[in-house]
Amino acid sequence: MKLDYLKACKHQYELDRHMVIRYDESHPFITEGAYSLDVQASFSFMNQCATIQGTMQGSIKLICQNCLQTFVYELKHSFALKLIRTSTQPLPKTAYYVCTDKYLDISQLLKEEVLLNIPSIPKHCILQ
Ligand SMILES: [Zn+2]
Repeated sequence: MKLDYLKACKHQYELDRHMVIRYDESHPFITEGAYSLDVQASFSFMNQCATIQGTMQGSIKLICQNCLQTFVYELKHSFALKLIRTSTQPLPKTAYYVCTDKYLDISQLLKEEVLLNIPSIPKHCILQ
């Protein structure tokens, strides 16, 4: 899903939907090629900067790094990201997302947020 993010901010667009995020690259912990997320997000200008903020929630199957069994990780994450066009301008001090195009690929943004917010070493059990 792509949208013109400056326009979305101008019109304070609200997103509320169930999204399927595809994961094509192989990943050491994520077992399935796709997972779904419930996403609520709003676009606006905050201090004259295009911003997306919202929450995402979903169940993601990860491989436990203790026992190598699959378990379901319940992800619930709030985010607030400034949307900037290039990484060469002075970077915001708060969280940001570089969108090189006029059109923001929301699936890609969510996918990256998920990767940043799953455990770096997922474990569902403790080895004795
Ligand atoms: Zn385990």
